[in-house]
Amino acid sequence: MTYTAPTREIQFILDHIVGLDQVRETERFADATADVVEAILQEAGKLSTEVLAPLNRVGDLEPATLENGVVRCSTGFDKGYEAIAEGGWVGMAADAEFGGMALPMTVATAVNDMLSGSCLSLSLNPLMSMGQIEALEHHASDHLKSVYLPKLISGEWNGTMNLTEPQAGSDVGALASKAVDNGDGTYAITGQKIFISWADNDFTANTCHLVLARLPDGAKGTKGISLFMVPKYIPDEDGNPGKANSLRVVSLEHKMGLHGSPTAVMEYDGATGWIVGEEHAGMKAMFTMMNNARLGVGVQGVGIAEAAYQHALAYANERKQGRSPIENGTGTIIDHADVRRMLATMKAQTFAARSIALYCAVSIDMATATGSADWQARAALLTPIAKAFGTDVGIDVANLGVQVHGGMGFIEETGAAQFGRDVRVTAIYEGTNGIQAMDLVARKMMDGGEAAFRLLEDVQKYSEKARSQFPELTESVWSAAESLRETTEWLVAQDDLADRFAGAVPYLRAFALVLGGFAHLNAASVEGGDGARTRLAQFFVKRLLPEHTALLQHVREGASDLYAITPEDLAL
Ligand SMILES: Cc1cc2nc3c(=O)[nH]c(=O)nc-3n(C[C@H](O)[C@H](O)[C@H](O)COP(=O)(O)OP(=O)(O)OC[C@H]3O[C@@H](n4cnc5c(N)ncnc54)[C@H](O)[C@@H]3O)c2cc1C
Repeated sequence: MTYTAPTREIQFILDHIVGLDQVRETERFADATADVVEAILQEAGKLSTEVLAPLNRVGDLEPATLENGVVRCSTGFDKGYEAIAEGGWVGMAADAEFGGMALPMTVATAVNDMLSGSCLSLSLNPLMSMGQIEALEHHASDHLKSVYLPKLISGEWNGTMNLTEPQAGSDVGALASKAVDNGDGTYAITGQKIFISWADNDFTANTCHLVLARLPDGAKGTKGISLFMVPKYIPDEDGNPGKANSLRVVSLEHKMGLHGSPTAVMEYDGATGWIVGEEHAGMKAMFTMMNNARLGVGVQGVGIAEAAYQHALAYANERKQGRSPIENGTGTIIDHADVRRMLATMKAQTFAARSIALYCAVSIDMATATGSADWQARAALLTPIAKAFGTDVGIDVANLGVQVHGGMGFIEETGAAQFGRDVRVTAIYEGTNGIQAMDLVARKMMDGGEAAFRLLEDVQKYSEKARSQFPELTESVWSAAESLRETTEWLVAQDDLADRFAGAVPYLRAFALVLGGFAHLNAASVEGGDGARTRLAQFFVKRLLPEHTALLQHVREGASDLYAITPEDLAL
């Protein structure tokens, strides 16, 4: 069973659930007409299904290796990358000035969903470049832009992000890499970075590292960090790769999954770098890249959920086991209630996570196009939810996919296990999901919860429109939003952040379930009767949404009982 890009499903969500229309009605994105978007989805779907999906297993079986300091990639990844670059997909959302397509983030996110679902390990490469392009567009000097953007956008060069060091993971501010001003417009960068994705390869002409380091007068913590462009080969006067820079891949990690993506330990030994943005303002510039990447990682989870679901559905439709418990059954395991439950959960959760991610992207586009503070706040609020819920769903769905396969799920040749191994890291990198949840309840609630309240008001207002058609479903979604609103009031009233953090993860999940319920209700409404989308909405709202009650109860417990459990208790 191979992957088939879910273009129809994505098109439905864009047209009916998240309102891509409002994006194309803005002057900025007027070119993203319905025809253009449809053609783009079809083309990206074809690339994903026909070119990238066949590489997925190869990447798993033939991990990238380091040979005499050179990274050798999995067989066929060069051709797969070439197809991505030639199609212009690296520069989908980039400015047209440097060769980008200037498409809405919503369309780029939909495409990233398909690229991720077909071959996660290879698609991580252009995803990193996309984030780097956005960071450079916003923060780099005109000179850096003119040298790097055309090459990154065309895919001739690729980009990486270098934050992590052994002692500086979630706590980026603890980094020790140093930068010294060379006095000629360049800086000397020295330090070790770990876990760097796609730090090298054997198919792009240059690899451009965005590296966080501290200048001698940089304050301790995140405030004293600066961001530097440190290319593998220093561009010559014509902008072509010239002298090799003083940096090297020390080793590649042996990982649980995502084998096709080289994850490197990097050493910078007085490497030549150029500052991006202001001195000591590196985190601000890096955040541009990280926000982009967070949504991108959220749809990595959605993409894998889709792939794992397709795999499990195909298996369930073939595997015969036991007598069918229903009349006119198919005679395969899909007839069993528990298998039906698993498949419905997989499908319904994937729809919810995809809708949230695409609505987050719509909010980003509306913020970009209108400059509206409300849209900005909505995009900021939704980003950690899209990242954490999308990746949690990816993991849950891949796990259920293994279960649907029974023993064969545990056997590598079916490919079901690979989805679970590959997607696991998405809840860890780009800020762990725990850190995302803390961001949601702290930084994103610095407005006293205003953005959250406005979103919940919209959920309630628009749910009302479905009340006459679906009274029960509407009431469930409406009152779940109400409970979430009340808990949000409780949350923002907690001055001690520990009380918010203790329930941050369940809060984020409850928020996502409410938004997911709303998306399903809308889908049922659009369908207008007793069809597949309505039955799936009923399943989600009646069986999955009620989890929000327990989650919100968890949130309101605060931190005291948690910290009452001592490290000694845990060692009991
Ligand atoms: C395959 C892979 C690819 C990666 N690619 C890149 C890359 O390209 N570039 C890059 O810079 N990095 C990359 N990373 C690193 C990744 O971003 C980090 O692993 C991640 O940020 C977590 O840091 P850590 O591993 O040090 O875990 P830690 O920070 O040690 O976290 C351990 C646990 O403690 C929790 N925790 C930590 N601090 C807090 C806190 N303040 N409050 C509550 N809980 C906390 C975490 O949520 C986690 O559960 C990659 C990692 C992997 C595995």
